[in-house]
Amino acid sequence: MANENTASNVTPSMSSIESACIEKGMKMTEQRRVIARVLSDSTDHPDVEDVYKRASEIDPKISIATVYRTLRLFDIANIIDRHDFGDGRARYEVAAEGSHHHHLIDMKTGHVLEFENEELESIKRRIARELGYKLVGERLELYGVPFGSGEEAPDTENET
Ligand SMILES: [Zn+2]
Repeated sequence: MANENTASNVTPSMSSIESACIEKGMKMTEQRRVIARVLSDSTDHPDVEDVYKRASEIDPKISIATVYRTLRLFDIANIIDRHDFGDGRARYEVAAEGSHHHHLIDMKTGHVLEFENEELESIKRRIARELGYKLVGERLELYGVPFGSGEEAPDTENET
């Protein structure tokens, strides 16, 4: 289903990750291209297994080792962001240029909500500045349970 190309030209359009890789002088193999495409098309925060499953649907010859290596490569090149949402599984998403968002993880369902907050951005910069630093990186995730759910110490089920 991911193969339905609405573009009328014959050459498949390049994913944003792929063009970022080429810009950084990275050699793009066919399998890397498939993995780049999967990440570009993902609107969630897939882990390695998810990326592997989605990539396998396009190219069944892709191994999970290749997925691991490629994600690592993209991560090091700052083409994708790696997140830790507290369940021990690394999640990936295309590094957002310009826009900057954070995540709130629903501890009950594992659902991940994205949010942006200008006030938060200036607070972070101010804290760093007051400590004598220019802010260049950060890690911040919020964890919550929905109000009225009666949950205070939920167990971490991954099933939704
Ligand atoms: Zn995100």
